[in-house]
Amino acid sequence: MRKKVTFQINHRYQEMRTGTVMVNGRQLATPAIVQTGSALTTLTPAELEACGVRAIKQDAIDYWRIGNHPGDLHDLLDWPGILVTASGADQAYRWAKPRGRKQDGVSFHDPASGQLKFYTPQAAQVIQQELGADLSQGFARDDDYFAPVDDLHAAAEQTAGWVTAQPKVAGDLAPLVGGGLLRARQVSLAAVPAGAVGYSILGVTPDVPVTEQGRLLAELVGMMDATKLRYLPTSGDLHQLVGMLLGGVDLIDSDLAGREAAMGNALVGFERLHLDRDRFADDDRLLADRCGCPTCRAGVSRAMIHHLLTTGQPVGERYLLFHNLFTINQLLAQLRSMITAGQVATDLRKFAGQRDQ
Ligand SMILES: [Zn+2]
Repeated sequence: MRKKVTFQINHRYQEMRTGTVMVNGRQLATPAIVQTGSALTTLTPAELEACGVRAIKQDAIDYWRIGNHPGDLHDLLDWPGILVTASGADQAYRWAKPRGRKQDGVSFHDPASGQLKFYTPQAAQVIQQELGADLSQGFARDDDYFAPVDDLHAAAEQTAGWVTAQPKVAGDLAPLVGGGLLRARQVSLAAVPAGAVGYSILGVTPDVPVTEQGRLLAELVGMMDATKLRYLPTSGDLHQLVGMLLGGVDLIDSDLAGREAAMGNALVGFERLHLDRDRFADDDRLLADRCGCPTCRAGVSRAMIHHLLTTGQPVGERYLLFHNLFTINQLLAQLRSMITAGQVATDLRKFAGQRDQ
């Protein structure tokens, strides 16, 4: 059955907007996080949902490489929410030698089997459909932001060529490549088919300074069709997350909750508590006042988590993961309310304006 994806904008405020993605009977309120990283491999679907996770991402190439893929991932993973897939072409290009970059795809030796594989825009689209993607992404020659200028232009021309020749390979979220180069981004943007529900802003790696990410986003927002979804599949720190959301991104990847939990950190407001430090050994308070996360609702104290972390018990990290995931998703819910009300809190703006740490 051919799915239908719609994106409806509900409220606008400055560059931001709230919206609803509707696909296959599932809905997602935006702006929203697309969850990636360790949370997906350590928590059950019910636990993810309890922490406010509504959209997860999977890399189609991981399944394509196996050959014998499992069908609809909603069933396999028991995931009732939105499933975003990436083509994984970026991974294939990293594995490929320069001569593996072909006119019609990319060939590479699979690091697991040593076999020579050839991944194409068409194959990437077929596998994403078979995996039951609610939001698929187009295959792109996705050069690193810091790649040589000639490579970035070549990548934009080639990606635009594939999409122009066969619009359906653009997927639901059409790829925008070209690093920080205006002309390359324009070439990429001009090729986006009218039928694509949104854009996937590729090539903005977490190591690109947040100020440059902001500049690029502002430039793109000015050029993009305002009715289409804006997705930034880049997981950065809290500064980048907030900055890109205030800049008008509707969907953004995040693995922040898991990364911070792995370092023993709890996100509280815009601060981080380093729970493994000695000063928490006798701190009987909850991680955060009036927090509704599973950890705080269960009454787990800072001292308890400190004890678990310092004695090497993995459940300590799990408690932090619950709290961090919930906190980030609460922040998104608050942001949606602020956009609806037409007012964004000063502390959020100030935080986004701070320099990288
Ligand atoms: Zn909590």
